[in-house]
Amino acid sequence: MIQVDLTGQVAVVTGAAQGIGEVILSRLLEAGASVVAIDLKAGDKCGFDQNRYLFIQSDVSDFDAAKEVVNRVLERFGRLDILVANAGINRDQVLWKMTKENWADVINVDLGGAFNYFAAASSAMKQQNSGKLIAISSINGLRGKFGQTNYSAAKAGVIGLVKAAAKELGKYSIRVNAVAPGFILTEMTDKMPEKYRNMAIEETVLKKAGKPEDIANAVLFLASDLSSHITGEVIKVDGGQYI
Ligand code: NAP
Repeated sequence: MIQVDLTGQVAVVTGAAQGIGEVILSRLLEAGASVVAIDLKAGDKCGFDQNRYLFIQSDVSDFDAAKEVVNRVLERFGRLDILVANAGINRDQVLWKMTKENWADVINVDLGGAFNYFAAASSAMKQQNSGKLIAISSINGLRGKFGQTNYSAAKAGVIGLVKAAAKELGKYSIRVNAVAPGFILTEMTDKMPEKYRNMAIEETVLKKAGKPEDIANAVLFLASDLSSHITGEVIKVDGGQYI
């Protein structure tokens, strides 16, 4: 049986206090990696092996803070192998009602956060001549979504970031990929009116919502050597919601 073994590797996951990020964090720990969780708020992670787990409260939209976080990771664990830029928010409004604050907040967190952490982590990974950068985009960055010009633009931007970074970093054996989830049951989608949740499920060809584990499994694949010849790629995990 093939098993993902990330023993000795060090990972950073942003937005790891809940939802998809929290499950990515658990999966990476289960696979043997040491993991640093970044979030605005602390999650309850007392049960984790504290030798392989560190929580840092930080805002991903802060460029200098991302550099400080990576420096702390290097001080504590000596290396950085896997970076998962997962933190994201949505502030839905149709274009003609979109406030400049809602536009800027989503761009700064969803796209800016991925840029800040990719930039900081790539410096460390270049020194090692190895690494995996993984961003959580969205199918709405591929297809555009009504009411989400800000979010769709940010998530499309993440895909551009991934493809350009893959070209720049390939010679250092750093692979850069994205996962594009469809409708996944998390605190983020709990806030959606039931009508829209049902519409999203109806859009899938599998006629079901995804779970955070579905996304975490794709991340684990991209973080492992099972994907050693894959870079600059976007993997949709959406039950066929956008075909
Ligand atoms: P979630 O349940 O809202 O969790 C996101 C986490 O990120 C929260 O703990 C949040 O903290 C944190 N966060 C927000 N802004 C941050 C910042 N500036 N700095 C640090 N942490 C921050 O969301 P999710 O559903 O797990 O989504 C995870 C990722 O998947 C996001 O990028 C999202 O866009 C993407 N995605 C989700 C779906 C879906 O259907 N769920 C679909 C496609 C893509 P607060 O709660 O304090 O804000």
